Amino acid sequence: MNKIYLDNASTTAINSEVMAEMMPYFNSVYGNASSLHSFGRDAKAAVETARERIAKAIGCLPSEIYFTSGATESNNWALRGLAYANAGKGKHIITSKIEHPSVLETCRQLEKEGFTVTYLDVDKYGLVRLDKLLHNIDQDTILISIMAANNEVGTIQNIQAISNIAKEKGVIFHTDATQAIGSVNINAKEMGIDAMSFSSHKLYGPKGVGALYVRNGVMIDKFMNGGEQEKNLRAGTLNTPAIVGFGKAVEIACRDIIANAKKMSNLRNYFIKEVMNRIDTTFLNGHPIQRLPNNINMSFGQIEGESVMFMLDMEGIAVSTGSACSSGVTEPPYVLEAMGVSPDLQKGAVRFTLSKSTTKEEIDTTIDELEKIVKKLRKISPITKAQVGKMKK
Ligand code: PMP
Repeated sequence: MNKIYLDNASTTAINSEVMAEMMPYFNSVYGNASSLHSFGRDAKAAVETARERIAKAIGCLPSEIYFTSGATESNNWALRGLAYANAGKGKHIITSKIEHPSVLETCRQLEKEGFTVTYLDVDKYGLVRLDKLLHNIDQDTILISIMAANNEVGTIQNIQAISNIAKEKGVIFHTDATQAIGSVNINAKEMGIDAMSFSSHKLYGPKGVGALYVRNGVMIDKFMNGGEQEKNLRAGTLNTPAIVGFGKAVEIACRDIIANAKKMSNLRNYFIKEVMNRIDTTFLNGHPIQRLPNNINMSFGQIEGESVMFMLDMEGIAVSTGSACSSGVTEPPYVLEAMGVSPDLQKGAVRFTLSKSTTKEEIDTTIDELEKIVKKLRKISPITKAQVGKMKK
C-alpha cells in the first residue's frame, strides 16, 4: 500500500539536500563548537554559517539568533525570560486563547509566580480582534505574545498590525512563528517584531532544534544555567549537525516560499471545494483566505473526527484531529472552542496538512476514501443531520 502523509503541521520529512549537508557533522567535523582547537573551530564555523542563513531568511542580524531544542523551548524561554527581565516595568502579559500549549502552560506558570495574564478571545475565524488587544493594554503590560499562524486551523494573524500596536504602546512583542516560517513571508526587522520562536522540523529540517530571535536591545533573562554558550543566555553543547540542517532547511524554505505556497494552496483549495461538493454537512474551520497554504481543517457533522482519523489510517492515510502534542489524550479542542464551534462539530474536526511534495493523486485518493468513510460512519451514527449544531459566533 502506498502510504499518504497529510500531517505536515505535526512534522515534515527531512529534505535530502538538508540531510546531505548535515552528514559530515556526525562523524567527520564532530568537534564541540565551544572548543578552541581546530575540530571545535570547524564546528563553530558551521554553526555560524547556519546562524547567518537563518538571520538572512528572517530579516535580522546573526547576533539576534539563539539556538534552542525547538519551539517549545523557545516559547518557554521567551515568555519567562522576557517576563522576568522586564518585571520591573510591569507584570501584565497579553496572549490569546488559541496559542500552542508551550505558550499557554508557561503563561499559567507565570500567573502562579505573580504575573497577570489576559487570554484574548478570537473571532469565528480564529483571528485576534485588534480592538480587544488595544483595550486590554494598560500601564502594567510588558509583553504581548500572539502566534503568527495557528497550528490547528491555519489562521494567519495580522502580525504587522499587532506589532504596530505593541510599538505604539511601548510593549514587547513576541510571536510564535513555528507554523509560519517558510510558509508566510516574515521579516523580523521590517515588521518590528521583538522576539520570535520557530522550529526546524516543521520546514523539512531535523527534529529537536529550533531558535529564538531576540532583537538586540530587548532585555531577556538567561534560560539554562551552565556553560557560556549562546552569549551566556542558553547553556548546553550545541547540536552541530541539527543546527547545520536547520540553517539549510530555513534557507531552502524561504527561497522557495512563493512556489511552494502556490502549489500547496491550489491543492488545498481543490480539496476543500471537492469535499464540500461531495460530502454534505461539512464545515471549514479557520479563515477561508487568511490561512496557511497547507492547512485544511474540516468538521464533518454527525460523526467523530477521531473515527475518521483511525479509518483513514487503516487505508494508509495519516491525518490528525488536532495537534500531535494533544492527540492520544481526549481533551477539549480548545482552539475550536475559542472560535465558537459547537461541541459536536468540535468532535467532528479533522486536520489535513499538505507538504510541498503532496500530489494531486494523493489528494484525490484521500477525498475518495474520506467520502466512503464519512458515509459509513453516518449510517451508524446516533446523531441526525438535523441535530448538527452550527458555528455559534
Ligand atoms: N508552536 C507551534 C505553533 C507549533 O505548532 C509547535 C509544534 N506542534 C510548537 C510550538 C512546538 O514546537 P517543537 O515541536 O519544535 O517543540
